[in-house]
Amino acid sequence: MDILKLAVLCAACLTPVALLRKKTPEQALLLTAAIVAVVLVQCLTVAAPLLEKLRALFSRAGVETAYAAVLLRILAAALVARFCADLCRDGGSQALAELRGRLAAYRSEKDRLLLQHGLSADDFKPSYTCPDCRDTGYAGGKRCHCFDQAAIDLVYTQSGLKEILKKENFDHFSFAYYSDSDVHPVTGLSSLAAAQNAVASCRLFIDTFALEFRNLYFYGDTGTGKTFLSNCVAKELMDLGYSVIYFTSFQLFDILSRGVFRRDRDAVDAHRNLFSCDLLIIDDLGTELTNTFTASQLFLCINERILRRKSTIISTNLGMDRLAELYSERVLSRISSSYTLLKLFGADIRILKRHRIQPE
Ligand SMILES: [Zn+2]
Repeated sequence: MDILKLAVLCAACLTPVALLRKKTPEQALLLTAAIVAVVLVQCLTVAAPLLEKLRALFSRAGVETAYAAVLLRILAAALVARFCADLCRDGGSQALAELRGRLAAYRSEKDRLLLQHGLSADDFKPSYTCPDCRDTGYAGGKRCHCFDQAAIDLVYTQSGLKEILKKENFDHFSFAYYSDSDVHPVTGLSSLAAAQNAVASCRLFIDTFALEFRNLYFYGDTGTGKTFLSNCVAKELMDLGYSVIYFTSFQLFDILSRGVFRRDRDAVDAHRNLFSCDLLIIDDLGTELTNTFTASQLFLCINERILRRKSTIISTNLGMDRLAELYSERVLSRISSSYTLLKLFGADIRILKRHRIQPE
């Protein structure tokens, strides 16, 4: 209960006190005592967190904490004692008018003191991790995006991904590992040009994420930065508040099979999030044991997400021919019609990094 509500409560209680006083002064006194008790308890509840905040602010402003605490206690005690005494004395009508005046005076005194110590009223406002829902998890009667991401984090214990994203993001991406003399015989593009093209597509994907439905398919040799680029996109979108799920293909098919064969609550939740999250990343597609089940489930997953206009990023060693062979023609058809295909090639960056080699 804040101070304003407390003042309203007092005002509301004063009318019955005034009425009672005329007929039965003893009962009026008892009621007044009860109001005083409630006000005192509420004052203590309101004061505790404020005092904590004030103590932090005083310490930031270089004012001795013990000295500040004593001052605050005296001020609070004086205010409450005076108000209660007045309430007892005259049943409240005069006290309330005086209290209003006194509160206004204290308010302007507080502003003056804050200004004097280089602080502002904004320093008292809580800072929210998610301003959209003020950390309540709900905004406009709906579950907030931060709630969804927290639920996803909980279900998939994505802390591992968050640690990876501290290193694998655009700040740490380097074109130095791609050569402009290594030219692909079919496309005529150098390894560097292919990487530049992929990064430009990632940027476009991020910049238009809220407006346009897109999907990315990174393919090419091992160690050419496919997973790194997927992670760069994941980091940017998570920072923008979108819900992102990252799976290796092995994990993805594990979740899909649990959803089909074990209809327990975790499996159902995981299954639902798989189709509803803003971005799904499937890493290393093709490294799982492929069979007719994985083929049908992959089609179901990417098709459902396309129908829901939810974006997906796939990284894989598989070119289009192998994709059709391992999964199906319909998977190939969906991917080639709805995904931006980005081929990366060149030297294995992991080996280059290990030997600290930069391509010429
Ligand atoms: Zn939120």
